[in-house]
Amino acid sequence: MTMTRRDLLSAAASLAAAPAFGIRAWAAPLPREADIVVIGAGAAGIAAARRIMAANRKVIVVEASGQIGGRCLTDTATFGVPFDRGARWMYNPETNPMIKLARAAALDVTTAPIGQKIRIGRRNARAGETEQFLAALVRANRAIDEASRGKADVNCGSVLPKDLGDWAGTAEFVLGASFAGKDLKDVSAIDKARAQERNAALACRQGLGTLIAKLGEQVPLSLSTPASRVSWSNRDVTVETPSGKIAARAAVVTVSSNVLAAGGIRFTPDIPKRQLDAAAKLSLGSLDRIVLQLSGNPLGLARDDSVIEQSNSTRTALLLANMAGSSLCSIDVAGSFGRDLAAQGEPAMVAFAMEWLTKLFGSEIGAAVRKSSATRWNAAPFTLGAMSSAVPGGQGSRKILAEPVGCMFLAGEATHETLWGTVDGAWESGERAADAALRRIGALRDEAAPAPKQRRRTAPAGSPGARVN
Ligand SMILES: Cc1cc2nc3c(=O)[nH]c(=O)nc-3n(C[C@H](O)[C@H](O)[C@H](O)COP(=O)(O)OP(=O)(O)OC[C@H]3O[C@@H](n4cnc5c(N)ncnc54)[C@H](O)[C@@H]3O)c2cc1C
Repeated sequence: MTMTRRDLLSAAASLAAAPAFGIRAWAAPLPREADIVVIGAGAAGIAAARRIMAANRKVIVVEASGQIGGRCLTDTATFGVPFDRGARWMYNPETNPMIKLARAAALDVTTAPIGQKIRIGRRNARAGETEQFLAALVRANRAIDEASRGKADVNCGSVLPKDLGDWAGTAEFVLGASFAGKDLKDVSAIDKARAQERNAALACRQGLGTLIAKLGEQVPLSLSTPASRVSWSNRDVTVETPSGKIAARAAVVTVSSNVLAAGGIRFTPDIPKRQLDAAAKLSLGSLDRIVLQLSGNPLGLARDDSVIEQSNSTRTALLLANMAGSSLCSIDVAGSFGRDLAAQGEPAMVAFAMEWLTKLFGSEIGAAVRKSSATRWNAAPFTLGAMSSAVPGGQGSRKILAEPVGCMFLAGEATHETLWGTVDGAWESGERAADAALRRIGALRDEAAPAPKQRRRTAPAGSPGARVN
């Protein structure tokens, strides 16, 4: 039986040493000054820069890597067809700005698979079994919601019902590793409960990385230009790079919470401990994608079929078969298992994927593999992980991370209280930080900030209480 999204939603209220894709170099010398410098050309950085340009202020984006997109990275080189090494789904079509932006950029927006299949060994789950799973998810989500209203924040794992039986491992994977990149025992119940629903996923046929790169086309930016030191005060800021220094009146810093916490940029003076502690409490989880090109559809699955398994451990994964009608199948691994596996390197990851598929679908898989590739986001030096999720007690850190530091404004998915771990959350955070920076330099009237759009919270994503990836 296939679980539809409706089922899933009613049941409860996703660098590698990445090759450079779509390189765009800064032809002119790096400017020596700007009104606002943006550090990082991921979704948050591009959103911030566009906002600053719209206010007719001079902006320059410095990006450490060789491409635009950060954790939105479309690989068209490896297999000759686009696949997203990072984010691929755009959730919540009614409110997600990325969808409108994709259409305006003349990219094709496609709907994600309608259902998710569950394997129990080599067969599909029966209707009754799927219902049992959905019921288990409802109960698990409810328990997390209830715990989030308690006096003290706790970890999600500690409040799961003890009688989820054969579905405990799958519920754990769907709600924890696959949603937040962490096992539930490492995730704050409050952070999880406050995450807005991530439903009705849409994809961009040319890739979400392609979208961010296209949105950055008119933005003045310098690739392969890491900010090494930022000297800041309440009045101005100087960003040092190997190509020279840029003096500005404000800065928007969009590097990941792990890059910030690891001291990837030196600050003079140091940024307050308050912000550094916040970044550490919003550490990035692990989510990686193993992609296999399979000849002859040996899995017997349809275009964009999404599959999870009944599992009694964290050693499990999520399959997206025949991606966009191609012969590519992606196997996502996440949480502590995914982290350990990715640390062993690409061959170990590919071996796991083949073993896992063979376990679920039969013995012909190995012979059908034509080519493979795997991301290793935890080892990607300018990202150091997949997406932020708060440690127990750490939910308040999102707000703290977004507090101004002199004339620096921090942005990025980790600063979004409810859409953390998403592209639209990163985008919104970039716009918000740009507005604050513009206000600081007097380029925007100090109006009451518009009340944030309230997206209905319910549970999580494309799997109940989970992201659809
Ligand atoms: C495998 C995976 C699957 C995902 N799936 C989804 C999904 O389906 N849907 C969804 O909405 N979200 C998904 N996400 C999450 C999403 O990708 C992120 O939330 C979002 O892209 C983060 O954007 P950002 O701008 O905050 O950070 P980033 O994209 O990390 O951008 C920060 C930028 O700063 C740069 N940088 C770092 N250090 C420096 C420096 N010293 N100087 C200059 N630049 C620097 C980095 O190179 C990077 O380009 C997924 C993430 C991963 C890893």
